[in-house]
Amino acid sequence: MSKKLYLVLSLAIIAATILAACQTATQAPVGTEVPLVITDTELNVLCTPQEEWCQGMKQEFEAKFGITVNYVRMSSGEALARVEAEKDAPTFDIWWGGPIDSFVSAKGKGLLERYDSPNFVNIREPDKMKDPDNMWVGVYVGTLGFATNTNWLAEHPDAKAPTSWDDLLKPEFTDQVMVAHPSSSGTSYTALCTVLQMRGEEAGWEYLKQYAGQMASFTKSGAAPAKFVGQGEAAVAIVFSHDIVNEIDNNQMPLVLTFPAEGTGYEIGGQAILKGAKNVQAAHLWYDWAISPEGQALGPKYHAYQAPTVNGVELSHPELISEANLIDYNFTWCGENKTAFVDKFTNEIANAENLKQ
Ligand code: PLP
Repeated sequence: MSKKLYLVLSLAIIAATILAACQTATQAPVGTEVPLVITDTELNVLCTPQEEWCQGMKQEFEAKFGITVNYVRMSSGEALARVEAEKDAPTFDIWWGGPIDSFVSAKGKGLLERYDSPNFVNIREPDKMKDPDNMWVGVYVGTLGFATNTNWLAEHPDAKAPTSWDDLLKPEFTDQVMVAHPSSSGTSYTALCTVLQMRGEEAGWEYLKQYAGQMASFTKSGAAPAKFVGQGEAAVAIVFSHDIVNEIDNNQMPLVLTFPAEGTGYEIGGQAILKGAKNVQAAHLWYDWAISPEGQALGPKYHAYQAPTVNGVELSHPELISEANLIDYNFTWCGENKTAFVDKFTNEIANAENLKQ
């Protein structure tokens, strides 16, 4: 065979092989920075925000990338426990949503995989919104507020919606406050760590004892107290402010939103790829998309009013940031101490038995 003929035949075989591979694998969409050929056909997502947003993101991702998404919705504390329990054989490829305290804790336990996303260029404040070792990145921001039932206020004319953490300890709110339990909920852990930072550990734990004594009950999920208080089961809920807006605007709950004037905590909702993930290509696609303006603009469509972490997306509710007096929340400290602080709360203040859903 002549050299020229050999070369032509070799090129033809290479071209045919590439074509065949392309026909059996998912095509990367034009205009995204992804490998030419994606062989993953499914993605397993551990989803921590509200069910409606998880479901919406699943459908949007499937429609855009042609990859099946299997997700399970779990609150932050449950998610962290599950990731830890499955560390040698992870079910999930990516963990999306929930305050980054849990991601910082997971990083410390060696449960996350580094990913240098090309979309980090989109992030608004990379020093704050991204792990320095690229183990996690922020996908939204939410501020902690109080939701008070307006019917209850009308029936108690001497009472006012709380505007400070001390107000929660007033006699009229005894057995009238609801919050999730910090062992299951990232929302509740944000409240706990906010108090410890604002008051210092000694006074903070003392306050938390009194605060726990004011509770009508603890719930499992962070957003649930806003629903229960809207239904009249208690007077005040401690929840993320975007969940309060959701209950007022979309579920017509009789609630008023207030913030503690002396300062409130906030969350950076995170995402991370899990160590040992099987569908790494698909996980990278999700990760990049979730920190693109296109991916983050989808939130309000699914009643998720958290602030975006990327440039190029309008805030749906800027007042949730501008009206809150945000503390300089120390995510590293809260994340590294998460297991110890949750254990202390559970063992010394309020156990996690009989939590309301
Ligand atoms: N749901 C919503 C709407 C949230 O904003 C967040 C916070 O990240 C969560 C759930 C987290 O849930 P949990 O407090 O149950 O861990």
